[in-house]
Formats: sequence, C-alpha cells, structure tokens
Amino acid sequence: MHFVDGITGLLFPARCHGCRSPIEYDRTPRLCTSCFSRLSPLISPLCSCCGTPFPCGEDHLCGKCLKKTFAFTRARSLFAYTEPLRSMLVRFKFGGDLAMLETLAYLAIQESVEDVGRRADCILPVPLHLNRLRSRGFNQALLLARHCFPGMLDKVFCDVLVRHQSTRPQTALSGKARRKNLRGAFHVMDRERICNQNIVLVDDVLTTGSTVDECARTLLDHGACSVEAVTLARVLAGRLTGGAEGQY
Ligand SMILES: [Zn+2]
Ligand SMILES: [Zn+2]
Repeated sequence: MHFVDGITGLLFPARCHGCRSPIEYDRTPRLCTSCFSRLSPLISPLCSCCGTPFPCGEDHLCGKCLKKTFAFTRARSLFAYTEPLRSMLVRFKFGGDLAMLETLAYLAIQESVEDVGRRADCILPVPLHLNRLRSRGFNQALLLARHCFPGMLDKVFCDVLVRHQSTRPQTALSGKARRKNLRGAFHVMDRERICNQNIVLVDDVLTTGSTVDECARTLLDHGACSVEAVTLARVLAGRLTGGAEGQY
C-alpha cells in the first residue's frame, strides 16, 4: 500500500490548493507553508453586529449598524477574501474543484465555525436560483455547510429557503443597487421549519452583506426568531479585487 502511495505521489504529486506548487505530504490542509501563513483570519476588534474588522480598539457597533441597517443579528466572516483564499474559492466555485472542500472546512473549523452552528436550530445555505444551480452543478454554500458542520447535518436544510428570482450578478453593483436587485429574491418553502427558530445562514463570501441581509429579512418575515450569518471569507473595504465576488 505504501509502495503504491509512493508511486502515485511521484507520478501525481499533491499540489497546494493555494499556489498549485507540489507539496511533500498530501494532508489536510493541503496548503504549502507560504500559502498557509498568508491566510488572514478575521479576529477582534470587529463590529459586534456585521463583523466589519476595525484596525484597533475593542468590539463595537460600526456606523451602519448603529443605524440598524441589517436584519440579521450578527454576521461573521472567518477570513479576509485575500490570497490565497480568493484563488481557492474561485477554483472551488467557478472551476468546480471540490477537492478543495476538505481544506476549506478544515480552515473554518480551526476558526471555531462549529460554535456558530451549535447556537442554531437550523443551518441554511444561501440558495442559488435553479438556473444557476443547474449550470454550476452544485451550491457552494450547501457544500460548505455540510463540510463545516459535520456533526450537525440534521440541522442543515437546503429546501427551506429558495431563490425564486434570477438576479443579475452582483459584482458591478453598488450597495444600494445590490439591495434593490435582491428585493423579493428569496422565498420560504417550509414555514414550520423556521418558525420561532434561531437560524444560521451559510455562504462562501460576504461582500456588502446585502445577500444574507435579504435572506434574513425573508426568514424573519416568515416567523424565524433570529438569523445569524457566517461566511468563509469577506471582501474588505477597498480591497475588492474584481472577478468573482457576489456572482451567485
Ligand atoms: Zn501554496
Ligand atoms: Zn456593523
């Protein structure tokens, strides 16, 4: 067995999910030392509502949240949407590289994502419209939810919240236009499931928060008790690097 593994390793060396360079050992997380060290976990100080990171000080509400802009109770993103995570998520989501999932979930679990899941009665992935689901073949948010909460699969539901309106890709839109583009896009299919429940929404990337906010608004309108959002990555202000964000 070890011999076969050795030959396979020689012929098809494991590659770092970040920079694609060959790595010596095929283990999770499959990242070289350099890519691993470039990950940017988002830690305090953060906005205690929307999770926007602050340069210094303690957790407090940002200007937007002081005005109670968002419907969700809290939003947390585990990492900044910077390299190498950006390339990883692009290859996962648009390139269909599902081998990446194990490493992405490992990183999320290292950042205590399971604590968020434990607070929830229901874990809902942000849904894709059926047309996009058909063309992509999978919902990245559902796969992330299943891999990040392996002990809580009985709480993960993919058919409770649906997207029944195909929206324009969000990439080129401003915050206000994003919200308008999403209005009425989501629908609750199973009201009983969410009634008086604490919900956690899962997505891959948070850009302005308008997608999870619209989901939260819809869930609360249909009787949910509270909605929290968790995403693997977050686009930081001034670092919108073009390409993949918001193209659900
Ligand atoms: Zn690397
Ligand atoms: Zn905030």
